[in-house]
Amino acid sequence: MTDSGRKNSSQLGEFEIIQRYFSRPAKRALIGVGDDCALLRPDAGLDLAVTTDMLIEGRHFLPGAEPGALGHKALAVNLSDLAAMGATPRWATLALALPGVEPEWLAGFSAGFYALAERYGVDLIGGDTTRGPRSICVAAIGEVPPGMALERSGARPGDDVWVSGELGGAALGLVHPEIAEAAKRLHRPEPRVELGERLRRLAHAAIDVSDGLAGDLGHILERSQVAARVEYERIPRCASFRTLKADELEKDCVLSGGDDYELLFTAPRAHRPELEALAAELKLALTRIGAIEAGAARLTVLAADGRPIAYRGGFDHFEKQK
Ligand code: ADP
Ligand code: MG
Repeated sequence: MTDSGRKNSSQLGEFEIIQRYFSRPAKRALIGVGDDCALLRPDAGLDLAVTTDMLIEGRHFLPGAEPGALGHKALAVNLSDLAAMGATPRWATLALALPGVEPEWLAGFSAGFYALAERYGVDLIGGDTTRGPRSICVAAIGEVPPGMALERSGARPGDDVWVSGELGGAALGLVHPEIAEAAKRLHRPEPRVELGERLRRLAHAAIDVSDGLAGDLGHILERSQVAARVEYERIPRCASFRTLKADELEKDCVLSGGDDYELLFTAPRAHRPELEALAAELKLALTRIGAIEAGAARLTVLAADGRPIAYRGGFDHFEKQK
């Protein structure tokens, strides 16, 4: 017998951390946490969609960030990538570096992570746990019927450009953490999982808005080799902007602010009625903000008076500091 039962929680070792906080039973895996690898059997004939995202303290979140929100967000950003591909999330792994053992932090993080995982039937099937500067790396795997995945390259001239929910809230939450609605968007983004699944049949191309509308729509345009026009006033935005009356900040958050994790997609005009019905069914706003046109990959954002608006492009972690 080991003495682990008598240790107080600040003396937890690596395996006790895993056992205590990250070992809920997997429902869809042949083997989950505890062996050298997890063992999965995908449903016959389905394609697997695989994604990973890192959150680093000091870069993606501040020291002292609420652990429950971090657990939620670390998984949410990955589920958002799966949704943007039209995939149904199934499994996730979690690689965690921690400066020390803090049971309260671990309990909060684990609760936030599992609350979202269980909502979508995602199994945590493995990971790694080590000492180091706090960083969180989640990988997620989803399933999608063959040929149905939503690629960035599928946009065609004549398509409408749509966006779910509201934009700009997360970026506003960075500048104005005291605005609760905006802070919630930043710290607890909602991955649009059901929408992604339903768009398989309806959209030509999709991406999730992680780096800002202009940058992310730019990725669709480049991969699809098409142009787009977007009407600025049509873009749905966080309601707090109405009372703020800060036009420049609003424009920057709505066009270039990251971290909203809404879905941005293109779809043929013929699908308008079905998309409107889908919005009502999912109780999630779907807004037509512009159109895809033939031409070189270029986004034009138009003001109400028809003049083009200048905007900041995409975000690049390695962009030279000016
Ligand atoms: P290995 O030595 O093979 O890397 P580990 O001792 O690191 O295995 O991990 C033991 C088991 O716990 C493995 O199944 C691994 O996938 C799982 N695991 C480790 N850390 C985590 C974590 N943070 N979340 C979920 N599972 C984890
Ligand atoms: Mg390991």
